[in-house]
Amino acid sequence: MDLFDSNTAERTNLPRNMIENSMFEEEPDVVDLAKDSNTFPAFSTLDPDEVAYEPRSSRLLVRGLGENDMDDDEEDCESSARLLGMSFMNRSSAHRSNSSPYIRQSPPRTCSRPSACTMVVCVLVLVIVASLVMVMYLLPGCTFTRAGCPKSNKTAPLEPVYPNSTNGELFPWAELRLPHSIQPLGYEVTLAPDLDNMTFTGRTVIKMSVLHSTKRIVLHAANLNITKAMFKLGDGQAHDVTVLEYKPRQQIAVKFPEELKTGQQCVLIFDYSANLSHTYDGFYNSSYTDKDGNKRVLAATQFEPLSARKAFPCFDEPSFKATFLIRINRKPSYMTLSNMPQAKTTPISNDLIQDEFEKTNVNMSTYLVAFIVGNFTSVSSNATGTNVSVYSIPEKKEQTDFALATASKLLQFYNGFFEIEYPLKKLDLVAIPDFLAGAMENWGLITFRETTLLLDSNSSHLEKQVVASVIAHELAHQWFGNLVTMSWWNDLWLNEGFATYMEYMSLQEILPNLDTGNLFLSVRFRAMDKDALNSSHPVSTEVNTPEQVEEMFDSVSYEKGASILLMLNASLPKEQQFKKGIIQYLNTYSGLNTETEDLWNSLTLVSTPRQNISEMMSSWTSQKGFPLVTVSRKGDQVTLSQEPFLLTSDNTTQKSRLWNIPITYVNDSCSLALECRQMYTLKNKTENLKVPESVKWLKLNYKNTGFYVVDYGNDGWNALIEALSKNISVLTPEDRASLIYNIFALSRLGRVPFQQVLHLLNSMSGETEPSPVTEALLQLNSIYRLLDKRQESGLAARMKAYILNHFGSLMKNQSWGEEQSLSKQELRSALVSTACILNEESCTDQAKSLFKKYHDSNFTVKIPGDLQQAVFTVAAQSEDDWETLLKLYTATTYDAEKRKMLKGLASTQDPRRIAWILKAGLNGDIIQTQELPLIINTACNGFAGYLFAWDFIQVNWDRLIEKFPVGSFAIQTIVKSTTSQFSTQAHLDQVQAFFSSLKQRGSQMRSVQEALETIRLNKRWMESNLKNFGKWH
Ligand SMILES: [Zn+2]
Repeated sequence: MDLFDSNTAERTNLPRNMIENSMFEEEPDVVDLAKDSNTFPAFSTLDPDEVAYEPRSSRLLVRGLGENDMDDDEEDCESSARLLGMSFMNRSSAHRSNSSPYIRQSPPRTCSRPSACTMVVCVLVLVIVASLVMVMYLLPGCTFTRAGCPKSNKTAPLEPVYPNSTNGELFPWAELRLPHSIQPLGYEVTLAPDLDNMTFTGRTVIKMSVLHSTKRIVLHAANLNITKAMFKLGDGQAHDVTVLEYKPRQQIAVKFPEELKTGQQCVLIFDYSANLSHTYDGFYNSSYTDKDGNKRVLAATQFEPLSARKAFPCFDEPSFKATFLIRINRKPSYMTLSNMPQAKTTPISNDLIQDEFEKTNVNMSTYLVAFIVGNFTSVSSNATGTNVSVYSIPEKKEQTDFALATASKLLQFYNGFFEIEYPLKKLDLVAIPDFLAGAMENWGLITFRETTLLLDSNSSHLEKQVVASVIAHELAHQWFGNLVTMSWWNDLWLNEGFATYMEYMSLQEILPNLDTGNLFLSVRFRAMDKDALNSSHPVSTEVNTPEQVEEMFDSVSYEKGASILLMLNASLPKEQQFKKGIIQYLNTYSGLNTETEDLWNSLTLVSTPRQNISEMMSSWTSQKGFPLVTVSRKGDQVTLSQEPFLLTSDNTTQKSRLWNIPITYVNDSCSLALECRQMYTLKNKTENLKVPESVKWLKLNYKNTGFYVVDYGNDGWNALIEALSKNISVLTPEDRASLIYNIFALSRLGRVPFQQVLHLLNSMSGETEPSPVTEALLQLNSIYRLLDKRQESGLAARMKAYILNHFGSLMKNQSWGEEQSLSKQELRSALVSTACILNEESCTDQAKSLFKKYHDSNFTVKIPGDLQQAVFTVAAQSEDDWETLLKLYTATTYDAEKRKMLKGLASTQDPRRIAWILKAGLNGDIIQTQELPLIINTACNGFAGYLFAWDFIQVNWDRLIEKFPVGSFAIQTIVKSTTSQFSTQAHLDQVQAFFSSLKQRGSQMRSVQEALETIRLNKRWMESNLKNFGKWH
């Protein structure tokens, strides 16, 4: 999946990330709020077969139970539940917080310490007692100590506590993860959607194999009204069965009086009906208004991560791979698409046709299944034996050419790079009018937002960059994710980190003019921003609840994942070695599921000389955060030391964390070419290396390919600043951007005074490369916004003056005509946006006059794509032009342009308009609800909007989480946007009180921890820096 707003918002505009900074330790309640509740406690169950399939993180909990194979007899479980007198629903929170239900429910031990009083009884009794004691001493698992008989080292068999099904009967399963006694082999899913009434009926036939004898089959279903279920064992007759449902875990189950035996095959058949979802997951309805003003409807799917169960009963976990045969009934006026090519079309009544698709020739995870019913037109081409097509609604057909050409090129590239041919006969890319994510990699049927697939003939290079990146990402998934899939969502980064890395890597190869290198650099900086917070998490992290699954779709899985792969690739002796390891991995696990360790093992296997990749990389995947490397130098000796770069904590246990860091460095005698780069692996807290005494300065982390921050110490920074003042080109643009990022980060940490930040910026006053300029603008803007929101108007004005002065000549040098070079577009877009947002007069005048020309020409005069955002934003500040822009927005069919207009509209400073646009985004009529996170984010940048938006989400929280799942990327964005510019105690209290009050409706989200942490950091940064800013000249 592509998260879209995680990076594209930053592609054409200044990044939205706000400042997150402090040198202070974190207060404990920031974390506690989120840790206290757990919506879905994991109660283990007792089938022997399940023990082996426990997720890694909880394996320890069940160790020792293996031999105590407990009977899963219904009577046993029912009686044990009665005995325990508990129903699942009213367990106390104490039970929930107990990580092991087995300990909680331990029966009393059978051995006891001999009493002292027996000593005074007759010798005979003493002997008997002594004998008894001996016997008990020898009982396995009980060891006498001075304290008596302690807890057994072998836990006794315990009964699971089963919840009640909806019909009152006990549900025969008590865990979030499904048992592995049954393996689905193949699904036949027949669906009859009714787009007039937004409902559907379905029949799903699941062929299964029994892996371990069991008396139950447990699978997923959500919001399906199952009207009939039948079961067939081997060649026997199908007979009706009762389906039990446990809604809180979206599970259904069938119980059997006799055991299903290992090796047997069986079939379950479900008939059901349901509503098409009105959110963005499951089998959902989407609509748009066509060019004649008519409302058109369609139905599409979005199953990742947990929503295939909303369309058909299934084993909805990534490791249950199976084949799929899909049939869909439709009216003749619609068409259908699915993962596979259409096999046949059969009329079933006067106005109903059934399309059947070929059975998948690969085993695939449920989250990759997809189907669409609607009106689309397509363009196709053949790329190395695969039929590639791009689908759009009919009136946007002419916007599909770039996508088709790019997808075909990328498919050829990946076929060659991975040395494994794409396994399906066709690959469809479909632009869905109302779609929340950026795109979804369904095998053979990739779905996109219109913005991430369609381009009109006037598109700018920056818009092409967005589309090409998203296609490259989704195509990489056809191997990483689809062919080889993570076993569980804890290793989502194996999918997403890889696809993100490949997206930049492939485009640098096949479309170098799109210049994705700068984009990737800025993505790595943003990943560090988030990972520097105490609320961050390891790349590979335990996941137990649906909310936690949703939360894995964040910048750590995507962007940090991609960053550490880049670091690894850059540190291996030859680039080919990384590629070889990937090919080895894909071949070894083709069609299977993997864990992080499997990837490292494959890379280790092909390394020459043999390197323990796992040892190096696990320090990056198993712990959160990243290191701060400090450099100090005496003559020819350089001392490198590492510690965690943590903005918030001085916790000593945290400081003991170590990384295996592939350090790279260059010096003044050779600093630009790759050959200048020297390498050193820092494994310990402190190590020394030698450099010639003549070396004037060192720059570590060549081109910022490593995921760490460097502090050069006062002398080291001064030497670099001096060198740059003489000649800015002694370092590559990436290295200059890296220094800027590093010094701002160190200033937040309190390691470097803000004055030193300004010295560095001043040494680069001649800077004209986009990546250092955009990074500096982003950092300075963040501070400006905080000062502005805190109503420190004097200081905000001073910061504004600094920005306009420092970048003034560069801003003034920008032309307002067409610009061909992408890097110049990037630079211009960033400079012009900043100047206009800061109300720099010549900028706003230019923008106004360009909008007027555009208006007067009846919108035929073209505004260059990279300037549109600035122009629309300036226009939206005037009452009349805001109305004009709204009309234009509703009439425009080109989505990329529409979004820029929308951002303009949302940037208004008029409170009534802000209130209106927020509401319109939520209602979804004039503005699609998919855009609400963008509207909120944009409104929050403005002074008037950010308080409105905060009120808005509090009032409408329940409606928001109806549309966007708790923990989802959309909700993460909304929480972050509305809270990240607060810096006062009063706001901190408000935010804390609001999210605490949500309880299970969102209080436990990581983004809430992040929000509170960020506000504290802002507050403390302000407290410690305001006085310094006051002295700033
Ligand atoms: Zn993805």
